[in-house]
Amino acid sequence: MTIPGSDPTLEAVQLMAHQDVVPVVPGTEDLWEHDAFCGFLDDEYIWGRGALDIKDMLMGELEAVDYLIAHHGTPRRSVHLAFGEDEEVTSQGATRLAEEMLHRGIRLAWLLDEGTTTMYDGAAYGAPGTTVSDICISQKGYLDVRLSAHGEGGHSSNPFGGTSLERLCRALARVAAKKPAPRLTPIIGDTFRTLAPHVTEEPFRALVADVDAHADELAAVAAETRELFPFVATTVAITQLEGGSTSPNVMPGDVSATINLRLLPRDVHRRHALARR
Ligand SMILES: [Zn+2]
Repeated sequence: MTIPGSDPTLEAVQLMAHQDVVPVVPGTEDLWEHDAFCGFLDDEYIWGRGALDIKDMLMGELEAVDYLIAHHGTPRRSVHLAFGEDEEVTSQGATRLAEEMLHRGIRLAWLLDEGTTTMYDGAAYGAPGTTVSDICISQKGYLDVRLSAHGEGGHSSNPFGGTSLERLCRALARVAAKKPAPRLTPIIGDTFRTLAPHVTEEPFRALVADVDAHADELAAVAAETRELFPFVATTVAITQLEGGSTSPNVMPGDVSATINLRLLPRDVHRRHALARR
């Protein structure tokens, strides 16, 4: 949706938020204090899946635009409202929005979309007591890899050659043992450079004195913390296992596993090559 601005010489701005949320894991519905999709409102909180990711932003932007038009009339810059429908899994909403923007030749002064935690303590960067707020200018890539092993089934008294599940587990173990090495991207390098004057704790303090010279060491140290690990590594998460035998003494048929990867920016170009296989 486009709200035309009064000054067509100004570049437009774009307000974004995705509309989808992740599902509730079947069987865990009862763990919710209020039904996951009821949007229950008590005196303090809105209870519901997606309230923070990212319906708060979606509704906030719509309310803000509504308020703007009601109280100030036409804005000077054109405002695009662009709400994708599939962010959590395959980002198809954002992909189509980007294609449409390209098609229409839309150029923006800026856009506002979901980011990370608004403000947090800089302890993870060795700068405790410093309040950090991120401006998100990049997103990691996404890749699902599915491994399958074929099994003939049969009685478990003769598992000659190993069961399909055994072969799959061996493959998964090899994947888990050979994870991508941490790497300092230009963006995270800039983050350390910006925070350098506030960094008081070792080993970060010595390393941020010259980020370029210590890029590999910084990446290695960051990868050892839960907070910074995803920023410096292509992550590999083995998330799903399908198949397996229903009986302990029967060998499994076909089994498969899914590995979910979140790719560092410069690893993304490999995604398409892999996806074609
Ligand atoms: Zn989100």
